[in-house]
Amino acid sequence: MENLQDNYSPLGTLSPSVTLSLAARAKELKKQGLNVCSMSVGEPDFDTPQAIKDACIQALSDGKVGYIASSGLPELKDEIVKKMASHGIQTTANNVVVTTGAKLALFEVITALCGVGDEVIVLAPYWLSYPEMIKASGAKMVVVNTKAENNFAPIKEELEKAITEHTKLIIVNSPSNPTGAVYSEATLKMIADIAVRYNIMVLSDEIYEKLIYDKQIKHISIASLNDDIKDLTITINGFSKAYAMTGWRLGYLVAPQWLVKRISALQSHATSNATTFVQYAAVVALQGKADKEVADMVDTFARRRELLCKLLKEIPQISFIEPQGAFYVMCNISQTGKSAKDFAEELLEKKLLTVIPCESFGAPKYIRLSYACSEEQIKESVKRLKEFCQEL
Ligand code: PLP
Repeated sequence: MENLQDNYSPLGTLSPSVTLSLAARAKELKKQGLNVCSMSVGEPDFDTPQAIKDACIQALSDGKVGYIASSGLPELKDEIVKKMASHGIQTTANNVVVTTGAKLALFEVITALCGVGDEVIVLAPYWLSYPEMIKASGAKMVVVNTKAENNFAPIKEELEKAITEHTKLIIVNSPSNPTGAVYSEATLKMIADIAVRYNIMVLSDEIYEKLIYDKQIKHISIASLNDDIKDLTITINGFSKAYAMTGWRLGYLVAPQWLVKRISALQSHATSNATTFVQYAAVVALQGKADKEVADMVDTFARRRELLCKLLKEIPQISFIEPQGAFYVMCNISQTGKSAKDFAEELLEKKLLTVIPCESFGAPKYIRLSYACSEEQIKESVKRLKEFCQEL
């Protein structure tokens, strides 16, 4: 039947990642033996700390291979509760769901809270999966734009203007992918006050929490500000970025119990528990047994950030603000007169360098550079970027 697809739910029609076609082209060029450089990577280029790997091997040797409670391993939930307390959030194991990656946690929260007719506020530039998750839930995304000169923080009046009777959720991501911005306490307080005043839930994606480079800047969990906002907040975190565990697929959420009940039920019919022996390994991570490696990784990222920012300042055609966290620098390329997509495609063809065009991050005048790569790679990549800009 020719129009068979039209008989099915439009909620299933998500956009595939736009960066995939660039990645495919880069692969093709590499296959031809060409020296392609990449500044598009979204994961730490480090190995998982040995203590975590050892704990996983031990769990396997001990036969920890069966189903467990679908919302998570009790020992891991206890460690998450302690970690939240260290962030100033008093909670219980009954407020925690362990998930197969932070991505699933985000998906489950949006699905459990929102549906057709509902609105979700997202601050642009945003991580590209939020719009697709919102679309999959049937809800509508409402974008509040932010500006580089304001450290990508929302303006109170603009945030308030976006609220309607249909608003169900505000998504906050600090430190942010793609901007690297870390919200100040004042910004978080402003968002919290609005959420409390209008009784709207807040989804706080804190996956880059450990990757902050400015010693004066501290990560603040919005749920720690007061009990009113705590009752409205779902805090999301995971192991991918902090412990170089992207492939292990482990994340978690901390939420009010009524929502945890909903999400636990949803998860019990979807994935069941996140991989059992991986959860045993994560206990060791939260107990601090890999803290030395994490600190070394953060120091390495800090040095790379400094190097990258120093080199980028030598390219007059692009502008950026120094990011405080994550491992990305957003570069404004509007002076070149090109769309981000054209810029990235031409850069790959002419200089064999991959960067992420930010149209699908709600920032069509920006490209995102990742410094999850060696200092040599950074130097070579910026050299190519500079040549490309000079030749425009
Ligand atoms: N949230 C943000 C902002 C991210 O950048 C990512 C991964 O790139 C995730 C969540 C997902 O992390 P995980 O690997 O735990 O699913």
